[in-house]
Amino acid sequence: MSIAHHPGEELLLSYASGAANEAVALLVASHLALCRQCRLVVASSEAAGGSLLEDIPPVAMSAQAYQSVLSRLDEPAAAIVRSAHLDSSVPAPLRAYIGNDIDGIAWRPIVSGLAHYPLVTRDGVRARLIRAEPGAGVAPHTHRGEEWTLVLTGSFSDVTGRYGPGDVQTTTPDIEHQPTADPGPACINLAVTDAPLVFRGFLPKLVGKMFGF
Ligand SMILES: [Zn+2]
Repeated sequence: MSIAHHPGEELLLSYASGAANEAVALLVASHLALCRQCRLVVASSEAAGGSLLEDIPPVAMSAQAYQSVLSRLDEPAAAIVRSAHLDSSVPAPLRAYIGNDIDGIAWRPIVSGLAHYPLVTRDGVRARLIRAEPGAGVAPHTHRGEEWTLVLTGSFSDVTGRYGPGDVQTTTPDIEHQPTADPGPACINLAVTDAPLVFRGFLPKLVGKMFGF
């Protein structure tokens, strides 16, 4: 399945300029590792930005976000390489956080069929992995802010469509959805939120609060 859903141009440009938050930069960098089309967009905006900025003292803006991801390779706590085995479902930027082996992740169960693994929180923006067995998913919710979801394995569907490996879903406060994993392999996503989700119903609200969604 080829990539059908890409990050918005605004997000790509924010990443290219080095303005993106670390959690957002991780998601964009991971998508770029999988998507040649968006790599070209970022490369051309960096080239354009470079020519606009050539009279300004160098501040290495374009490299900043990527460097923030790369620099984590030097942090022993973040760079837990559990295995020399190369798993193609872990994009290179994500390996600084989880190593190469997606099967070795110490998942934290949420409810039946659903688990998560927190990666990084910066200025209230959270990045985490979410693993959903087929048929499982996150309870119906809306958003106070934006939510970006990059699919690593399997696929999920909601009212807005179907998302497979490499796809990025962007949701905004006006969208209510209930993403649910499709039949097939477990759906593992990299999910980034810049504000808590808004669940309907007492139990999902409670579970959401417990697990920091
Ligand atoms: Zn793309």
